[in-house]
Amino acid sequence: MAADVIYLSLGFMMSEKSEIVQLGAEVLRQKARLVDDFNGVKFRELLDVLQEAMQESNGIGIAAPQLGASWQIIIVASRPTTRYPNAPEMAPVVMVNPRFRVVDSCLLKDWEGCLSVPGIRALVPRYRSIQVDYQHANGQPRQMVLENFPARVFQHEYDHLQGLVYLDRVETNQDIISESEFFKRIAA
Ligand code: ZN
Repeated sequence: MAADVIYLSLGFMMSEKSEIVQLGAEVLRQKARLVDDFNGVKFRELLDVLQEAMQESNGIGIAAPQLGASWQIIIVASRPTTRYPNAPEMAPVVMVNPRFRVVDSCLLKDWEGCLSVPGIRALVPRYRSIQVDYQHANGQPRQMVLENFPARVFQHEYDHLQGLVYLDRVETNQDIISESEFFKRIAA
Protein backbone atom coordinates (compact mmCIF):
# COMPACT_ATOMS: atom_id res chain seq x y z
CA MET A 1 0.00 0.00 0.00
CA ALA A 2 0.95 3.64 -0.32
CA ALA A 3 3.10 5.62 2.11
CA ASP A 4 0.03 7.09 3.75
CA VAL A 5 -0.82 3.78 5.39
CA ILE A 6 -1.38 4.05 9.11
CA TYR A 7 -1.10 1.07 11.44
CA LEU A 8 -3.62 0.90 14.25
CA SER A 9 -3.32 -1.04 17.47
CA LEU A 10 -6.41 -3.17 16.78
CA GLY A 11 -4.36 -4.92 14.14
CA PHE A 12 -5.75 -3.57 10.93
CA MET A 13 -4.28 -1.11 8.54
CA MET A 14 -5.87 1.31 6.17
CA SER A 15 -4.87 4.30 4.18
CA GLU A 16 -6.05 7.80 4.97
CA LYS A 17 -7.85 7.84 1.63
CA SER A 18 -9.48 4.50 2.51
CA GLU A 19 -8.33 2.82 -0.66
CA ILE A 20 -10.22 -0.34 -1.49
CA VAL A 21 -7.92 -3.36 -1.35
CA GLN A 22 -7.67 -5.06 -4.74
CA LEU A 23 -7.79 -8.74 -5.71
CA GLY A 24 -4.40 -10.32 -5.13
CA ALA A 25 -3.95 -8.75 -1.70
CA GLU A 26 -3.48 -11.43 0.95
CA VAL A 27 -6.08 -9.94 3.29
CA LEU A 28 -8.85 -10.78 0.79
CA ARG A 29 -7.90 -14.46 1.09
CA GLN A 30 -7.83 -14.65 4.88
CA LYS A 31 -10.62 -15.64 7.26
CA ALA A 32 -11.48 -12.48 9.18
CA ARG A 33 -11.32 -12.40 12.98
CA LEU A 34 -14.35 -12.16 15.28
CA VAL A 35 -14.89 -8.76 16.85
CA ASP A 36 -14.97 -8.94 20.67
CA ASP A 37 -14.34 -5.34 21.66
CA PHE A 38 -17.34 -3.22 20.71
CA ASN A 39 -16.28 -0.21 22.77
CA GLY A 40 -12.80 0.38 21.43
CA VAL A 41 -12.02 3.61 19.60
CA LYS A 42 -10.46 1.63 16.76
CA PHE A 43 -13.65 -0.37 16.20
CA ARG A 44 -15.71 2.84 16.00
CA GLU A 45 -13.16 4.36 13.63
CA LEU A 46 -13.26 1.32 11.40
CA LEU A 47 -17.07 1.53 11.19
CA ASP A 48 -16.82 5.17 10.12
CA VAL A 49 -14.19 4.42 7.50
CA LEU A 50 -16.25 1.51 6.12
CA GLN A 51 -19.37 3.65 5.79
CA GLU A 52 -17.43 6.45 4.14
CA ALA A 53 -15.64 4.15 1.69
CA MET A 54 -18.90 2.49 0.66
CA GLN A 55 -20.58 5.83 0.00
CA GLU A 56 -17.61 7.24 -1.92
CA SER A 57 -17.34 4.19 -4.16
CA ASN A 58 -21.09 3.91 -4.89
CA GLY A 59 -21.05 0.48 -3.30
CA ILE A 60 -24.13 -1.36 -2.07
CA GLY A 61 -22.16 -3.32 0.48
CA ILE A 62 -18.67 -3.54 1.87
CA ALA A 63 -16.63 -5.86 4.07
CA ALA A 64 -13.84 -4.80 6.45
CA PRO A 65 -11.16 -6.91 4.68
CA GLN A 66 -11.71 -4.68 1.62
CA LEU A 67 -10.11 -1.89 3.65
CA GLY A 68 -7.28 -4.14 4.79
CA ALA A 69 -8.99 -4.80 8.13
CA SER A 70 -9.33 -8.54 8.75
CA TRP A 71 -12.36 -8.30 11.06
CA GLN A 72 -15.86 -9.75 10.72
CA ILE A 73 -17.74 -6.57 9.89
CA ILE A 74 -19.90 -5.94 6.82
CA ILE A 75 -22.39 -3.34 5.69
CA VAL A 76 -25.36 -4.40 3.55
CA ALA A 77 -26.91 -1.38 1.86
CA SER A 78 -28.79 -2.22 -1.30
CA ARG A 79 -29.83 0.98 -3.12
CA PRO A 80 -29.85 2.20 -6.71
CA THR A 81 -26.38 3.60 -7.54
CA THR A 82 -24.44 4.27 -10.72
CA ARG A 83 -22.82 0.84 -10.24
CA TYR A 84 -26.15 -0.93 -9.56
CA PRO A 85 -28.94 1.13 -11.19
CA ASN A 86 -31.58 -1.55 -10.56
CA ALA A 87 -30.81 -2.38 -6.93
CA PRO A 88 -33.77 -2.09 -4.52
CA GLU A 89 -33.57 0.44 -1.70
CA MET A 90 -33.01 -0.68 1.89
CA ALA A 91 -31.72 1.04 5.02
CA PRO A 92 -28.00 0.26 5.43
CA VAL A 93 -27.31 -2.38 8.09
CA VAL A 94 -23.98 -2.79 9.85
CA MET A 95 -23.49 -6.46 10.73
CA VAL A 96 -20.75 -7.62 13.08
CA ASN A 97 -19.78 -11.33 13.34
CA PRO A 98 -22.57 -12.37 10.92
CA ARG A 99 -23.80 -15.94 10.37
CA PHE A 100 -26.61 -17.21 8.21
CA ARG A 101 -28.78 -20.23 7.53
CA VAL A 102 -30.57 -21.00 4.32
CA VAL A 103 -34.36 -20.43 4.35
CA ASP A 104 -34.96 -21.17 0.66
CA SER A 105 -32.27 -23.32 -0.92
CA CYS A 106 -33.33 -22.26 -4.41
CA LEU A 107 -30.24 -20.78 -6.09
CA LEU A 108 -30.73 -17.71 -8.27
CA LYS A 109 -28.13 -16.42 -10.71
CA ASP A 110 -27.73 -12.67 -11.07
CA TRP A 111 -25.04 -10.14 -11.88
CA GLU A 112 -22.46 -9.09 -9.30
CA GLY A 113 -19.45 -6.86 -9.24
CA CYS A 114 -16.96 -6.01 -6.53
CA LEU A 115 -15.02 -2.89 -5.58
CA SER A 116 -12.01 -5.17 -5.07
CA VAL A 117 -12.35 -6.73 -8.54
CA PRO A 118 -12.79 -3.71 -10.81
CA GLY A 119 -13.77 -3.76 -14.46
CA ILE A 120 -15.76 -6.99 -14.58
CA ARG A 121 -19.15 -8.44 -13.69
CA ALA A 122 -20.29 -12.03 -13.42
CA LEU A 123 -23.38 -14.16 -12.95
CA VAL A 124 -23.26 -15.70 -9.48
CA PRO A 125 -25.61 -18.30 -7.97
CA ARG A 126 -26.84 -17.34 -4.46
CA TYR A 127 -29.53 -18.60 -2.08
CA ARG A 128 -32.80 -16.78 -2.61
CA SER A 129 -33.71 -16.43 1.05
CA ILE A 130 -31.59 -16.60 4.20
CA GLN A 131 -31.88 -15.86 7.91
CA VAL A 132 -29.00 -13.80 9.21
CA ASP A 133 -27.75 -13.68 12.80
CA TYR A 134 -25.35 -10.87 13.60
CA GLN A 135 -24.36 -8.37 16.27
CA HIS A 136 -25.33 -4.73 16.11
CA ALA A 137 -22.48 -2.21 16.33
CA ASN A 138 -23.32 -2.00 20.06
CA GLY A 139 -22.77 -5.75 20.48
CA GLN A 140 -26.42 -6.79 20.82
CA PRO A 141 -27.55 -9.89 18.90
CA ARG A 142 -29.92 -9.28 15.99
CA GLN A 143 -31.73 -11.39 13.43
CA MET A 144 -33.01 -10.60 9.98
CA VAL A 145 -34.51 -12.49 7.04
CA LEU A 146 -33.16 -11.35 3.68
CA GLU A 147 -34.55 -12.25 0.27
CA ASN A 148 -33.51 -11.84 -3.35
CA PHE A 149 -31.07 -8.99 -4.04
CA PRO A 150 -30.33 -7.98 -0.41
CA ALA A 151 -29.77 -11.70 0.37
CA ARG A 152 -27.31 -11.73 -2.53
CA VAL A 153 -25.47 -8.66 -1.22
CA PHE A 154 -25.19 -10.29 2.21
CA GLN A 155 -23.80 -13.56 0.79
CA HIS A 156 -21.27 -11.60 -1.31
CA GLU A 157 -20.03 -9.62 1.72
CA TYR A 158 -20.11 -12.68 3.99
CA ASP A 159 -17.83 -14.47 1.53
CA HIS A 160 -15.27 -11.67 1.94
CA LEU A 161 -15.06 -12.62 5.64
CA GLN A 162 -14.25 -16.22 4.65
CA GLY A 163 -11.47 -15.23 2.25
CA LEU A 164 -13.65 -15.75 -0.83
CA VAL A 165 -14.53 -13.43 -3.72
CA TYR A 166 -17.52 -13.73 -6.03
CA LEU A 167 -15.42 -15.13 -8.87
CA ASP A 168 -14.91 -18.25 -6.73
CA ARG A 169 -18.67 -18.90 -7.03
CA VAL A 170 -19.01 -18.45 -10.80
CA GLU A 171 -20.12 -21.65 -12.54
CA THR A 172 -18.36 -21.03 -15.85
CA ASN A 173 -15.92 -18.42 -17.18
CA GLN A 174 -18.56 -17.63 -19.81
CA ASP A 175 -20.57 -15.99 -17.03
CA ILE A 176 -17.84 -13.33 -16.65
CA ILE A 177 -18.08 -10.13 -18.73
CA SER A 178 -16.42 -6.73 -18.79
CA GLU A 179 -18.10 -3.89 -16.93
CA SER A 180 -18.42 -1.85 -20.11
CA GLU A 181 -20.38 -4.69 -21.75
CA PHE A 182 -22.48 -5.01 -18.60
CA PHE A 183 -23.56 -1.38 -18.84
CA LYS A 184 -24.15 -1.63 -22.59
CA ARG A 185 -26.19 -4.81 -22.55
CA ILE A 186 -27.60 -5.54 -19.12
CA ALA A 187 -28.00 -2.39 -17.03
CA ALA A 188 -28.92 -0.20 -19.99
ZN1 ZN B 1 -16.91 -7.58 -2.93
